[in-house]
Amino acid sequence: MDTQRQVLDRLRSSFKSGVTIPEQFRRTQLTKLTYMIKENEELILKALHKDLAKPKFEAVLSELDMVSNELHCAITNLSSWMQPEYVSKNLATKLDDCFIRREPLGVVLIIGPWNYPLQLLMIPLIGAISAGNCVVIKPSEVSAATDSLVAELIPKYLSQDCYVVVRGGAEETAALLQNRFDHIFYTGSQTVARSIMQAASVHLTPVTLELGGKCPCLIYGSVNMEAAARRLVWAKFFNAGQSCVAPDYVLCTKATLDSLVPAVCEVLEEFYSKEPQTSPDFSRIVSPKHWTRLMELLGRSSSKVVVGGQGKEEDKYIAPTVVVDVADDDALMQEEIFGPILPLITMESVEEGIEFVNRREKPLALYVFSEESSVVNTVMENTSSGGFCSNDGILHMTLPSLPFGGVGASGWGSYHGRWGFETFSHRRACMLRGWALERLNGLRYPPYQENKLSWLRWTASPKTSCSLM
Ligand code: NAD
Repeated sequence: MDTQRQVLDRLRSSFKSGVTIPEQFRRTQLTKLTYMIKENEELILKALHKDLAKPKFEAVLSELDMVSNELHCAITNLSSWMQPEYVSKNLATKLDDCFIRREPLGVVLIIGPWNYPLQLLMIPLIGAISAGNCVVIKPSEVSAATDSLVAELIPKYLSQDCYVVVRGGAEETAALLQNRFDHIFYTGSQTVARSIMQAASVHLTPVTLELGGKCPCLIYGSVNMEAAARRLVWAKFFNAGQSCVAPDYVLCTKATLDSLVPAVCEVLEEFYSKEPQTSPDFSRIVSPKHWTRLMELLGRSSSKVVVGGQGKEEDKYIAPTVVVDVADDDALMQEEIFGPILPLITMESVEEGIEFVNRREKPLALYVFSEESSVVNTVMENTSSGGFCSNDGILHMTLPSLPFGGVGASGWGSYHGRWGFETFSHRRACMLRGWALERLNGLRYPPYQENKLSWLRWTASPKTSCSLM
């Protein structure tokens, strides 16, 4: 088996050979990736079920279809994404060709997490291939079945000289990070992101960080409580709450809470039955370690459980849990929950809710439920988050036309659709000059004179550039 060094040398020399540059090569690899997903649907679903007991319905929507839609978007738009982008010019550059050329970065590293172990590796990979890079793919060792399947499938479908899966946990990833990459795309926790940045700083490697945090959901003004409860419960308990964009906690008035609690309890029963442990539609916690973290978090909380609270270690099961009476300093409010526990917190006005959100790190997603557009706009205009969605959860990230990423502590950079292509491209500023109008150029050469300066400033002024292309 090749060492990490040999693998990287192979990718580096493939990149240098220019094999990944032609559109046809990129298109072929993307098409092969499409076949990989299509021809192995059953194996992928089986692996996701083994890792997280992911229901087929959720796996199809959030893993297979999201990847297929992104592939379709990339294959359809690749040609236009790769075109040079001509820019406006001033009088001094009127005869020149001025454009932005998207160039691949080189050999890039994609490190994935375990919660959507296929989607969160494949969508960045689509961006990296589209942009013409060679790629090292590092799946999460925690979702072991998907990790092993990805490692088996990628070499069967994609060029082994350009795309390689390297497996392992923290130790192997740390060793991998000692090598020089041209970009690192990391999805995972804020804690590990710090080590990634440290390692990247040695080689001054740019990073994209897709992180997490506590995504709030504010419910204010009039709402259709039945619909709100369904959408909230769906977004929160999809994948058993192990979604980076799951609503982490809810803020609402006491009056809203009084109608929200029974509505949420009713919806939970409707979705997962009176015995959620027997429901095939409810996922499991990924590992005993993650199960223990969540149960301990619940144990340390002084909040009041209104539904759920039970856990079965041998089954990695935690019941869909809703808690109220949550103090500011409660254990549940100190870290991202990332599991099926939903705190409902009372704040008597939307302004107080906004203030509560703004006292914390900027979240990856922010939700507001209200039938009043003034409430939606007030929340949107007075907060900051990676993404924003009103009257629903998670859905904003399913559109390839919207950039997906965080802001502040929830991440740097974005991807999906064209944004993924941009993330893995260098936008090279190109000016192709000819030899004409040398007398005009003479204006900038010494000996410097006041009248030359005036003319020069006029030719370079934005006022003379307006629609000159
Ligand atoms: P993690 O940081 O533990 O692991 C992610 C990856 O980093 C894995 O591949 C793992 O092998 C590797 N890794 C772990 N420790 C390492 C170390 N010390 N040095 C180098 N590499 C190391 O994250 P996770 O538990 O897999 O994911 C959970 C977190 O990810 C949550 O905070 C969640 O919100 C966030 N997340 C964000 C997004 C997003 O798109 N923004 C998506 C999913 C998850």
